[in-house]
Amino acid sequence: MGEIFVVVEHRKGEIREITFEMLFKAKELCRICSHNLTAILLGGKDAGFVDDLAKWADRVIAFEDNRLEIFNADLYKEILDRLILEHTPFLTLMGHTSWGMDLAPALSIRTGFPLATDCVDIQTEDGRPMVFRQIYSGKLFSKVSFKESPGYLITVRPGAFLPPDGVEGTPGEIVMQELPSGLTEPKKEFIEFVDTGAGDIDITQAELLVSIGRGVGEEENIAAIRELADLMGATLSCSRPVVDKNWLPKYHQVGTSGKSVKPKVYLAFGISGAFQHVAGITGAGTVIAINKDRKAPIFRVADYGIADDLFKVADALKAEF
Ligand SMILES: Cc1cc2nc3c(=O)[nH]c(=O)nc-3n(C[C@H](O)[C@H](O)[C@H](O)COP(=O)(O)OP(=O)(O)OC[C@H]3O[C@@H](n4cnc5c(N)ncnc54)[C@H](O)[C@@H]3O)c2cc1C
Repeated sequence: MGEIFVVVEHRKGEIREITFEMLFKAKELCRICSHNLTAILLGGKDAGFVDDLAKWADRVIAFEDNRLEIFNADLYKEILDRLILEHTPFLTLMGHTSWGMDLAPALSIRTGFPLATDCVDIQTEDGRPMVFRQIYSGKLFSKVSFKESPGYLITVRPGAFLPPDGVEGTPGEIVMQELPSGLTEPKKEFIEFVDTGAGDIDITQAELLVSIGRGVGEEENIAAIRELADLMGATLSCSRPVVDKNWLPKYHQVGTSGKSVKPKVYLAFGISGAFQHVAGITGAGTVIAINKDRKAPIFRVADYGIADDLFKVADALKAEF
């Protein structure tokens, strides 16, 4: 029986969603391979995360120290590197986020464990992990196997797995650990959080998305669809041309150069269904497309389609709501 490590990601006093996505997938892998699931928390003193994490994992290894409150790649790498070499987990999962992109390559070099990045699925084959990655801007999936190794490292694309809202069962063991002695002084220092315009909405977490494409025609027309989204309690997202024209900020964009989303329902208004867009909605539950061109490629991936003028459909829906 081996172990799967999940590196817990947090920011400004909250566990980030990617952590639960990884724990959910790791739990499934643990069930299949009879491994134990260990959440690795590097956080500030009394961050209050451990009890939450224990619900998801067989064990939480927590380093709580105020030097760890805010992500510091130098410090985190040193602690993780020692921990991985000490425990030799079969698999260590990190988010394909600014954390994982910084940590994972260095940990791979330090531990000698092979690394696959930005993975959208993880399976096992002949006792080794096997991962799926998107290539050619999401047009193809590549299946990647690893060379034989005592352990493997993987970064997981945010939004690739859909965890439940909560978990039942006996909470796992909590192991509080002191920082190892002899840590080198980090070369990086946290100065401040700067808002990069991430916006006040997060389309990756929305359960209901009303998405607009170039078919909306003019910037002024967006108001009509926004009104519908508000009536439905939905979040507004869009295709890339809408962002390129500066009609909506970048954080609304779905797709390979935008965000991958996983709503329960995705309504696409006037979106043709280019593969760069569709690659971002593979995690969506039900896709409903509205397009006046019945040959539009979006209908190939939609569960329901309406071949009609989008404003007509929006008005009808507004009347209904
Ligand atoms: C490297 C790269 C990365 C990219 N990344 C992304 C990405 O992340 N996200 C993304 O979305 N795109 C991305 N693209 C662009 C992508 O290739 C498409 O150009 C884009 O998705 C098309 O957007 P659209 O469907 O809104 O517009 P169009 O393809 O122009 O489609 C508009 C649709 O609206 C329909 N329509 C028009 N008027 C009406 C009406 N009144 N009622 C109903 N339907 C109507 C038309 O029939 C048409 O199907 C990327 C491209 C490249 C090269």
